[in-house]
Amino acid sequence: MLPRRSTRQVCIGDARTGVVRIGGGLPAQHPLSGGVETAVAPVVVQTMTAGYTHDVDRCVAEINRMAAAGADVVRVAVPEKKDTEALRHIIPQVGVPIVADVHFHFQRALEAVEAGVHKIRLNPGNISDRDQVNAVIDACKERGLPIRVGVNEGSIIERKDKQKRKEELGKFFAGHKQGHLMALMIAKLEEYLDIFHEREFFDIVISAKSMDAAFCIDVYKEISRRFEYPLHLGVTHAGTKESGCIRSVVALGSLLSQGVGDTIRISYASDPVHEVEDGLELLWSLGLRERKGVDLIACPTCGRIQVDLFTLVQDVRKVLKDEITVPMKVAVMGCIVNGPGEAEGADVAVFAGDRRGIIYVQGERVANVPEGEILERLLAECRGFQARVLAGEAKLGDKKVEIVPPDPIGELGSGFEKIAAGQVEARPTDLTVGRTG
Ligand code: SF4
Repeated sequence: MLPRRSTRQVCIGDARTGVVRIGGGLPAQHPLSGGVETAVAPVVVQTMTAGYTHDVDRCVAEINRMAAAGADVVRVAVPEKKDTEALRHIIPQVGVPIVADVHFHFQRALEAVEAGVHKIRLNPGNISDRDQVNAVIDACKERGLPIRVGVNEGSIIERKDKQKRKEELGKFFAGHKQGHLMALMIAKLEEYLDIFHEREFFDIVISAKSMDAAFCIDVYKEISRRFEYPLHLGVTHAGTKESGCIRSVVALGSLLSQGVGDTIRISYASDPVHEVEDGLELLWSLGLRERKGVDLIACPTCGRIQVDLFTLVQDVRKVLKDEITVPMKVAVMGCIVNGPGEAEGADVAVFAGDRRGIIYVQGERVANVPEGEILERLLAECRGFQARVLAGEAKLGDKKVEIVPPDPIGELGSGFEKIAAGQVEARPTDLTVGRTG
């Protein structure tokens, strides 16, 4: 398991939604611990609804889809009063904690608190009036709600005194091409947190998003050295699903691998359910969350491929995504080159060749089927294996036998062509006699 940085632990949610813990790990004697020793909580996956919050039924449906995909926390925009009013109807219908994303109008934060929201996000770039911030802090403190302070690059640099601050702060982080911006974000954060500290409010999560992945890495690392609050990681305005996913994963993955980050949002212009799926996959890949459901391994294919592997993998994924709940490893491999190696590490595996597939369960060969039957047989073996795991009759990761690769000439690979070309002696094999296991 990768090491994680220790922070104050912040809790979000209630008895109905369940309480989601963010960060942790400080000893009881630490001034920010609240006198309680906490363990570092697993990294939390968040996303944000894409539709209007005041469209209650759609908003509820969207949140429930996100929760079903694995989102731990969902954020909603509340630009208008009708949005905060809608929260009263939305919150009782969803099973995850809800964060109200507030910009410009501090009253929206107060209304959201009244409506029963579980956390507030404030932007120092557009709500900076001390009395207004104090009003939000007091309302949250009274209800025991945390506040995320999100200093986005995009809103911070709009300040009227940008040029003056740029000159003032230029001396910090000298040599960093965006050093002044980093200094500006940190200075703003420090000024803002002073307001919270004066009110003795410490249930704070910090974010400092930018659209520049490399800058995100630098600024979050700098903030992690200065503040012992949990960090919400994200690359903002990251782009399309394709580019945005890469930008987010490179920044978040780098930070998480260095122990920085307690909650994440992968962000791009697409269905937010994909953001949740990609966020979970990132955490699973780094071993930061226990995988739920299938871990699908597939080869990228190459000139040796002899079955339609892309279609097969997608079909397998679509079905197993919904049906498999245990962290079962399934390998779908195109040929004998890497097939046996990957199959050996998997609970259920197939490797293909000559328009057939050899299927293994726990290292034991259970079938040799024509291409048209691979999908159904593989799915059946996965379902059967899951049933045995759930019944306590089989264990994930256990191997009954070591996989012995088939003879590449006789059983798989390009043997048929070679035989046809008279390059090797024809002889009956499992494949040539069509045994289906
Ligand atoms: S498993 Fe075979 S087909 Fe797939 S990439 Fe590797 S060599 Fe190519």
